[in-house]
Amino acid sequence: MKKLIRYLGLLTSLCVLALVLSSCGTKKAASQSVLSRAEETNTIVWGVKADTKLFGLMDVKDSQIKGFDVDIAKALTKQILGSKGKASFIQVSSQTRIPLLKNGNIDAVVATMTITPDRQKVVDFSDHYFNAGQSLLVKKGSSVKSVKDLDKTGTRVLAVTGANSVANFQKVAPKARVLELQDYAQALQALKSGQGQALTTDNGILLGMAAENPGYQVVGSAFTKEPYGIAVNKGQKAFVNKINQALKKIRENGEYDRIVKKWFGNISGFDYKEAEK
Ligand code: GLU
Repeated sequence: MKKLIRYLGLLTSLCVLALVLSSCGTKKAASQSVLSRAEETNTIVWGVKADTKLFGLMDVKDSQIKGFDVDIAKALTKQILGSKGKASFIQVSSQTRIPLLKNGNIDAVVATMTITPDRQKVVDFSDHYFNAGQSLLVKKGSSVKSVKDLDKTGTRVLAVTGANSVANFQKVAPKARVLELQDYAQALQALKSGQGQALTTDNGILLGMAAENPGYQVVGSAFTKEPYGIAVNKGQKAFVNKINQALKKIRENGEYDRIVKKWFGNISGFDYKEAEK
């Protein structure tokens, strides 16, 4: 009996200790400097898309995520941590990127993310690093030529949950119905299976889909401005400043331009000079 009581006592102390340690851990994660931790571990953990051709797409051949955002993150990592700095990547979607950032699973989001006033209430953004604009992808031969053709009852348009494209589209075509999918792979699949007359999101993303799917094309001019920023948790000013300095540096040394040309130089219908501004 005595033995059992002693054993239970020990168990309780261990539980209390574990609780204290874990709560310390959480407190630390929230207030810790992301930049100091990145410098200590020589690693920055970036949230990138893995379903978005040209920006962040999983290459099944080598399980590497590749795209413009990924290359930008790698270039920024070298600027911030030095040539031996490591960029680590975690897959995010339009819907999961803010929660993953807020929970401390990732240090920053570089994932086709528009700087918007609503998002600025919950996260901080770097300076913009790319200019996109919202547009439409339709099947070739479709009668849809612009958003005006979709502003009718009975029209269905596809978009992705967590993207500002949903609200943007509802503003310009309030009569249409927007069907939300989980990610861009699913949204494209839904367009192909005829679940909507058009898919709406940023032109760069849509042109990436069109390049892979010759039966589809981007129509109408961009009807919004989508300046992309790198999102960082609130309270990490030092990290945001470092990112901005690094962005400036890669623009100055020509690396930014090389990355833009690598991904968008051959995409017809995309004004990469405009995107770079
Ligand atoms: N740039 C838009 C956004 O931030 C659409 C692209 C995306 O879903 O990431 O919501």
